[in-house]
Amino acid sequence: MRLLLFILLFPAITHALPDSLPVPGGIVILPISKTTDKPAVFFKNRKVMVVKKDNQWVALIGMPLTMKQGVYNARVNLKESKPYSVTFRIKSKKYPQQHITIKNKRMVNPNNYDMKRITADRIRIKRALKHWSNNDDVQLNFQKPVKGAYSSAFGLRRFFNKQARKPHSGVDIAASKGTPLKAAANGIVIETGNYFFNGNTVFIDHGQGLISMYSHLDKIKVQTNQAVSQGEIIGLIGKTGRVTGAHLHWSVSLNNNMIDPTLFLDTSQRPQ
Ligand SMILES: [Zn+2]
Repeated sequence: MRLLLFILLFPAITHALPDSLPVPGGIVILPISKTTDKPAVFFKNRKVMVVKKDNQWVALIGMPLTMKQGVYNARVNLKESKPYSVTFRIKSKKYPQQHITIKNKRMVNPNNYDMKRITADRIRIKRALKHWSNNDDVQLNFQKPVKGAYSSAFGLRRFFNKQARKPHSGVDIAASKGTPLKAAANGIVIETGNYFFNGNTVFIDHGQGLISMYSHLDKIKVQTNQAVSQGEIIGLIGKTGRVTGAHLHWSVSLNNNMIDPTLFLDTSQRPQ
């Protein structure tokens, strides 16, 4: 009965796989085995997502933005056989540069007091991004979390007031302050907070190392441990943290690597 209810409530849950994009900041989709038992797959000693697609176990592996082109291995553990490796090739990708001018100098060169806070923020953010939960019904077909134009692309090599900073690890969507923000997919809220750079932020765990992160919110409308459905309002768009105006910064992490969130959207919702 519970299963039937689940199917009725979430008829859209399928393992509609995202596109494979074997580049830094992309996803590698790796067919693994047709065994009965689910294989455990590891990349750089970290467990990665495995889902069943057409009777085939498939691993989904997030690639870090810092990845160099070359041949890499994923390790496969199966009950029926010895551990073995599957190789895959990563191509290079050079993302464009972006120069941003921030009037609040403290947001570019934080003082000692700010640095203490930034260090504490990082610990919480890192903990949220490396969260793992065993969920065999990961929803992989995301929905764009807010209506609006993409104002900044994923992966841009950024300069704040001419100083090189980390690349843009998400996409920005322009929307006015107070616009409702919706969960990209079903999941559990694992962390919320106000951070120096990210402002008010919500983290949703979708399962098996897939985490979405929503930053610069005016208001947070959910609490930690709350289950949310795709499309449910989780906050309001704002301009908290390091911003030049109201927008959503949306990041997606897979096996603890920030990847392009729009890979999980159907083509009609992606940047044109
Ligand atoms: Zn951003």
